[in-house]
Amino acid sequence: MLIVGTELVVVEAELVGGLLGCPSCRGVLGPWGRARERVLRCRSGSRLLRPRRARCRGCLGTHVLLPQLAFSRRQDEVLVIGEAIEANVAGEGFRPIAARLGACPETVRGWLRRFAERAEEIRAHFTRCAVALDPELGPVMPAGGGVADALEAIAIAARAWVLRFGPAGPWEIASRFSGGRLLGNTNRPLESVR
Ligand SMILES: [Zn+2]
Repeated sequence: MLIVGTELVVVEAELVGGLLGCPSCRGVLGPWGRARERVLRCRSGSRLLRPRRARCRGCLGTHVLLPQLAFSRRQDEVLVIGEAIEANVAGEGFRPIAARLGACPETVRGWLRRFAERAEEIRAHFTRCAVALDPELGPVMPAGGGVADALEAIAIAARAWVLRFGPAGPWEIASRFSGGRLLGNTNRPLESVR
């Protein structure tokens, strides 16, 4: 799995041009067909994704190129999941959030639970990403502990990204920096994302 930009033409050019690195060995990725279709639930309605698949010329491993609109194994776009997390950190419960977003309450509860479980790891990982992008960054002040600090670290890393590379939404950047695994299984540390 490699998280890529949302401009399909750009991704295709990068892939064919040998500009995408293998997430396992840093070798060069080349085109390798397409992954199966999946439906992404977006704020603007459902969207059909058929992600590109790539194969590493070094280790021969294959990787799905998932656009940064999505997290791995989540059916809702990052924007919707991010909005739920932000609302919850601001004090709203999972049921009203789900009703507002038109999502299943248990699904929303699952996102929030996983974000809370990983909060400290997310805070540490995104703080490292922010410092790597902006070595001048001053000390990061706690925002209130737990999920609030994790959310703040994502915002700081996103700002550092935007200053360096140009506009992108914080949750798309969160998908990139976590290799799509922001809400993934906790036995695969985010630290291993390259
Ligand atoms: Zn490789």
